[in-house]
Amino acid sequence: MLDSYKRNINYLRISVTDRCNLRCTYCMPEDGVKMLHHEDILSYEEITEIVKVAVANGITKVRITGGEPLVRKGITDLVSMISGIPGIADLAMTTNAILLSNYANELKKAGLNRINISLDSVNPEKFRSITRGGNINDVFNGIKAAKEAGLLPIKINCVISKSKEETDALEVADFCRNNKLEIRFIHQMSLKDGQFSVVEGGDGGHCASCNRLRLTADGKIKPCLFNDMEFNARELGAENAILMAIGKKPANGTVNCSGHFYNIGG
Ligand code: SAM
Ligand code: SF4
Repeated sequence: MLDSYKRNINYLRISVTDRCNLRCTYCMPEDGVKMLHHEDILSYEEITEIVKVAVANGITKVRITGGEPLVRKGITDLVSMISGIPGIADLAMTTNAILLSNYANELKKAGLNRINISLDSVNPEKFRSITRGGNINDVFNGIKAAKEAGLLPIKINCVISKSKEETDALEVADFCRNNKLEIRFIHQMSLKDGQFSVVEGGDGGHCASCNRLRLTADGKIKPCLFNDMEFNARELGAENAILMAIGKKPANGTVNCSGHFYNIGG
């Protein structure tokens, strides 16, 4: 469906949880993260209903993200439920891949088309420090399993602080070349004081062609990551919330003062 700036809104990113098995320094505080209550988190049935309504209103591409989507119990059931909705042309997931080797086959069978994996360094010690404890071998095994399962193309999301010429970024780029993986660099945003905003040249700088809506783990439809506006699908009904979000999608992102990537879904 076209929004008021004639952008075709056809892409929905769904955060299925605000929980994560890592604590990346730029994403989550080390401890003391205030988590959503269990009853606030949408059930898989609720998410599927919202996606059906979204598809009836022009959504054709869906991405499952988080928090870490693979830590939510029964995630492959949700993938099956969504992939079974007629009209979904592309179903993808963004993951840190720590648990991916256990799930890659099941995910493919459930109807997931492809996967994005976050990897900011291929140096085991650096990776452990950025993620506050992650084991890079889990990621390597996850990538291997995703390839074998045919979750292709595999894209690597690599957060950079300043430039693509940083040592870590160059090494991740090499790793991708050698392993036939696509790479996307994402400029790190400062989440200080719970605020984040559009970074010049970074993710989110393409407002004129932005085709996205987001669904938070607790059921809010957000028209823009860099804006506090949200429409509660439980309170308004999915269709109203979606239509309001499309209708009020801003021309440009500015600043978000009330959320974090891990609960909105980066
Ligand atoms: N846990 C999954 C993962 O890490 O891939 C999915 C959710 S994570 C919030 C989605 C993406 O947001 C990751 O690629 C991550 O690198 C990115 N991200 C998190 N915090 C960020 C920040 N401050 N600036 C830029 N990207 C960020
Ligand atoms: Fe977890 Fe992804 Fe955030 Fe890292 S970037 S803490 S893996 S949600």
